[in-house]
Amino acid sequence: MNWDYLQPVKIHFGKGRVKEIKEIARELGCERGLLVAGPFFFKSGLAEKVIKESEGMIVASFGDVSPNPDVAEVDACAEVIRQKNIGFVVALGGGSPMDCAKAAASVALTPDSIRKYHGTGVAMPEKHLPLIAVPTTAGTGSEVTCVSVLSDHANEKKAPIVSEGFYPAAAIIDPELTYTMPPQVTAGTGIDVLSHAIEGYWSKGHQPICDVLAMHAAEMVFKYVYRAYRKPDDEEAREKMCEASLIAGLAFTLPKTTSSHACSFPLTNIYHIPHGEACGLTLDYFIRINAKGEGGERVEEFARRIGFKDAEEMADAVLELKKKMGLRCDLKDLELDDDQIAELVRISRHPNLYNNPVEITDEMLDEMYRYLSGK
Ligand code: NAD
Repeated sequence: MNWDYLQPVKIHFGKGRVKEIKEIARELGCERGLLVAGPFFFKSGLAEKVIKESEGMIVASFGDVSPNPDVAEVDACAEVIRQKNIGFVVALGGGSPMDCAKAAASVALTPDSIRKYHGTGVAMPEKHLPLIAVPTTAGTGSEVTCVSVLSDHANEKKAPIVSEGFYPAAAIIDPELTYTMPPQVTAGTGIDVLSHAIEGYWSKGHQPICDVLAMHAAEMVFKYVYRAYRKPDDEEAREKMCEASLIAGLAFTLPKTTSSHACSFPLTNIYHIPHGEACGLTLDYFIRINAKGEGGERVEEFARRIGFKDAEEMADAVLELKKKMGLRCDLKDLELDDDQIAELVRISRHPNLYNNPVEITDEMLDEMYRYLSGK
């Protein structure tokens, strides 16, 4: 078995470390920073605090980033970078601001719209401005991945762009920034971490270093996510979930995600189910499928290594966790008709689906969506 491992992001982990942005930027030789953050952080005062603490290193801000960022937002952000002669970018927020910032920090160095590279197969130029990623959710792991997931809402398209140039230069994981996450965001983003760990592990692109990372991250989620959900100021649970999110990011960025992520794209795009919740919706279903099919012994081993009797018991635990945290376990309320199910099947046939160890046919997807719809 041949494999390569690369992890180029300098990681700074610990409470209160968000104030180190200016030192890190100086170390990187950067000047004239742009802060990219979601609107929540401008209201909460965190964006203002970060700009103030940068002591002039951050000279402008961009706050028009919505959940599941749109290609138009990336283009607008890139235009600010060009106009203001920006030298580096700081992304503060969940996966949405981080992914918007990654794409903008690259495309701003071209005259192009990001649309040229989104879901088109055109390779993104690797040249980019340095990015310092500061996550505020414990979910995506985007701070250490070379992926930017963007939506083109006008064309009902959500797809990742992968580029070596998307790796941030540095990541600051400050667990204190996650304390303000409401329970539903904690739950959804926490299940996203579990999806990254499990999918990274069983992906056809799996490899030994990522396997070990995936097991550690999954174990942390089963142990701490419910505590963080129940008690948002549980410092230990928050810190461990940040650790899990970061490590799951490292576990999937090279092997890539698989079936649950492929199915999440239409569920988010068409039915507006938040990203993590949409991934978690099919996770236990695919654990059962993958445990029975080709490579099933690896899924069984994963379950046993993190403390379950077998994969079936792990799938039950995922379902139980979703129920306890008020996450969606089915699609019954949507009352999907046959055409809508056929559309879900068609759009789930996303490249990530082909990383799944078991070949997923249209018939299998149809059966799953009917089961989840109570049909
Ligand atoms: P998000 O960034 O979309 O944020 C969700 C909501 O939580 C927003 O309303 C935001 O304001 C709020 N929020 C975030 N942090 C908060 C905090 N500390 N306190 C209070 N509110 C807070 O959520 P996400 O799940 O982190 O990111 C999802 C996006 O990331 C999706 O587009 C998904 O496809 C993408 N993603 C990217 C990667 C990658 O490797 N690039 C991996 C997985 C997912």
